[in-house]
Amino acid sequence: MVVGVHRPTQLVIDRQALRENIHAAVSRLADGCALFMVVKANGYGHGAVQVAQAAKDAGATGFCVAILDEALELRAAGFNEPILVLGVSDPADAPLMATQRISATVAAQDWLVEANEYLTLAHAAQPLRVHLGLDTGMGRIGFKTPAALQSAVAYLNDNDTLDFEGIFTHFSTADSADDRYFKQQVTTWKTLTGALDQLPRYVHVSNSATSLWHAECNANMVRFGVAGYGLNPSGTAVKLPYTLHPAMSLTSELVHVKKVAAGESVGYGATYTASQAEWVGTVPIGYADGYERRLQGFHVLVDGQPCEIIGRVCMDQLMVRLPAEYQRGTQVTLVGRDGDETISLQDVADYCGTIHYEIACGFTSRLPRCYR
Ligand code: PLP
Repeated sequence: MVVGVHRPTQLVIDRQALRENIHAAVSRLADGCALFMVVKANGYGHGAVQVAQAAKDAGATGFCVAILDEALELRAAGFNEPILVLGVSDPADAPLMATQRISATVAAQDWLVEANEYLTLAHAAQPLRVHLGLDTGMGRIGFKTPAALQSAVAYLNDNDTLDFEGIFTHFSTADSADDRYFKQQVTTWKTLTGALDQLPRYVHVSNSATSLWHAECNANMVRFGVAGYGLNPSGTAVKLPYTLHPAMSLTSELVHVKKVAAGESVGYGATYTASQAEWVGTVPIGYADGYERRLQGFHVLVDGQPCEIIGRVCMDQLMVRLPAEYQRGTQVTLVGRDGDETISLQDVADYCGTIHYEIACGFTSRLPRCYR
């Protein structure tokens, strides 16, 4: 997809906000605890390379991504820090990961056996760095029993092609006010790791929510994601212990303004009909940019004034009802602050019946990312 640099619609990313959020987290960590910034999905839509640089400047000493290609993007951009791929990679890529010093998440021993075959065949000069994932209740990936875990650790210790670098789990309810399931997961984590004689260099359980609300669990590394972008991991369910600064805004301009008469309709399906004469503005953004069709009836800020989105959101354009005649070129804020009014990613997510994570990483590459 091309990047739309010839239209006045862009995501604006505030690097200072990123640095402040990440620095605040780093400064709260116990001595010896590292922060790896999670920059998967193009840095939650904010731009992986730019977020990684801001995170590094703010004290992050490593990165987490979801897939190998995201790790390779960081290496190609010149980052030499440790990078952990959180998802399950293809064992055939083990030699590439070893050479690039990219750590693999391993969730089953047969993966190790297969990866070992590829590493041996490739005469890989470096061992593959392995983080064993434990499934303590997320039900996604990972070892579930002490016996399976012990067997995998024995296999790691027996093979020089493999380096047992880390062990971790992921909590599924750390962002909830009810901590009963969280506590069960912590107990399972302790039982599983307690079955091992030795622990590797990196032991980690904390995403943003765990590091914000259960910091006593942190171990010696945290995988810090959404809070680094300035967003409350719980949405609005749990209060933040300190202020975060949202880093993403979405802005555009009115490209067309007209007066419609009472009885005239707007948009596909003619779902909106003016009940009186009114001013209507057109904004060049649509669902092909990740601005969802479900946002019909929501609002944007035009010159700081909330204005309703009328008619269906089109693929590339949407229409808003204006309180008065505005000039073409008037600033439109779809996410962010203008004057006294703010539209947060949380507001957009609430309207769509989803979470802000999905909105942020759903903005497509057609939107230029502008860094301030
Ligand atoms: N760790 C793992 C395994 C994850 O899957 C994620 C995100 O989905 C994170 C850490 C970061 O989570 P958050 O963005 O909530 O901090």
